[in-house]
Amino acid sequence: MPPAKAAAEVDYKEYSLAEEPYYRPITDEVALFEAAYGARLPVLLKGPTGCGKTRFVEYMAWRLTQGRGRRSGTPLITVACHEDLTASDLVGKFLMKGDETVWSPGPLTKAVEMGAICYLDEVVEARKDTTVLIHPLTDHRRILPIDKKGTVLEAHPDFLLVVSFNPGYQSVFKNLKQSTRQRFVAIEFGFPPEDAEREIIAHESGVSPADAARLARLGQKVRNLKHQGLEEGVSTRLLIYAGKLIAGGIGPRRAVRMALTEALTDDPDVQTALEDLAAAVIG
Ligand code: ADP
Repeated sequence: MPPAKAAAEVDYKEYSLAEEPYYRPITDEVALFEAAYGARLPVLLKGPTGCGKTRFVEYMAWRLTQGRGRRSGTPLITVACHEDLTASDLVGKFLMKGDETVWSPGPLTKAVEMGAICYLDEVVEARKDTTVLIHPLTDHRRILPIDKKGTVLEAHPDFLLVVSFNPGYQSVFKNLKQSTRQRFVAIEFGFPPEDAEREIIAHESGVSPADAARLARLGQKVRNLKHQGLEEGVSTRLLIYAGKLIAGGIGPRRAVRMALTEALTDDPDVQTALEDLAAAVIG
């Protein structure tokens, strides 16, 4: 195998999921994503932090096998966006190796080349220059300009761009511009309903079904405290953390204090409200 092809094969394996990720579907999101991927429509996942967006993309990548013959799954490259993330972090850089300069492709370039799903988590956090890359990849052109090399890459037929965005964090400075937004179909996520969240907590933390049920109940109640300074409520992720602490031998009230009360707020009044809820639900 020529070296370039061999390297692509290594990348392909590296970014392919070996095992089926656990995902509990909530509504019709699996069918929606499949339809979007089938038509290669870029997807925007909207929803609060810790509600299952990343796990969902992992599951979908594992499920989707289009155009892959006997292979199963589609590779997935995830990038956690942050305020210092630039276009060249996504595309790639020339690096000095001894006396030589070698091209080091970034995650987006790799995904475009190998036909992966590229998941840009919290895309609004990234520097503004990244939109220059997103636009030509999300319309009929499906191209990635690589300015540093003076080339333009055509996306592999299996490539798809998926981004996530938390509307709860919207601000004047960090909002998805309409010109970017209108290039994606959107799937809305919220926290799972109580029965589903109970299953998820039990599965992910290993806590008993009875404790999982209490944590799911508490989750619902905490989310009703919205107007007391807890706009985002509590994430499924934190409820799972509480479950893990309980499974590890910490008493339920102590676990809730650590994973929810102290983690969510420093405001003594809100903390008291949370502890009162915990006392009512957990005892
Ligand atoms: P987000 O990407 O929305 O911030 P994650 O996907 O990381 O959130 O979700 C946090 C955790 O919650 C996951 O690691 C997983 O354990 C769990 N989770 C949330 N929703 C689901 C679901 N529907 N099925 C399975 N696990 C879930």
